[in-house]
Amino acid sequence: MRKPVIAGNWKMYKLLSEAVETALALKPLVANANHCEVVIAPVFVQIKTIADRLEGSNINVAAQDCAPVEKQSANTGEVSAEMLKDVGCSHIIIGHSERRQFYAESDNAVNQKTKSCLTSGLKAIVCVGEMLAEREAGKAEEVVKTQVVNGLAGLTTADMERIIIAYEPVWAIGTGKTATPEQAQEMHAFIRQVLTETHGKVVADSTRILYGGSVKPENIKELMNQEDVDGALVGGASLDANSFAQIVNYK
Ligand code: PEP
Repeated sequence: MRKPVIAGNWKMYKLLSEAVETALALKPLVANANHCEVVIAPVFVQIKTIADRLEGSNINVAAQDCAPVEKQSANTGEVSAEMLKDVGCSHIIIGHSERRQFYAESDNAVNQKTKSCLTSGLKAIVCVGEMLAEREAGKAEEVVKTQVVNGLAGLTTADMERIIIAYEPVWAIGTGKTATPEQAQEMHAFIRQVLTETHGKVVADSTRILYGGSVKPENIKELMNQEDVDGALVGGASLDANSFAQIVNYK
């Protein structure tokens, strides 16, 4: 059985005091959520504080990115996966569409970052998803397949145990436009088929595939009812503890 993952991406929205306040408010609200893996992703500089404040709780802390190299080295401005683990991270979001769009992050960079994350013993939440123009041109599956194949290139079966895929159609992120549950299911099933081709059926059947794109308390249940939807990566609705807790407690 695939244990669902509900992950909140706080992007660059919160000052430290706000992040601590939200994390502490969330703690009791999701304390009984044993049905899923709960993850929140503050900005780099808040990770240590948030991880310390959440110690002993069932909330995991993720980073929103990491360096493509592992070695402690001359890489000004970068933060390695090992450093993130060192301050309390268990997961890293890699290849979010905002990084692909605004920082020209390539599939190759996503692959290197994913490998760094795995080498450091952390779980990677690898994001894929097509732009609106690509969907309208009938290229959604082709684009997503390329991102999955290239992003996960060279990973072993053992590596894949720590891979979580997030399908986030770019046209649904922060726009209020959610993919219909059927559109999400269709793409998730397609991704699982791609994983069967690249890593075999056992890996494909056990890999968690999250949906992301305007997930809210109102639509989570219907999305989670889809066979191949194993959780959600939530942006806007994760910023408020009550709304994120409602999503976590969707059952
Ligand atoms: C995201 O940033 O990963 C995301 C899905 O954002 P939102 O939920 O706001 O659409």
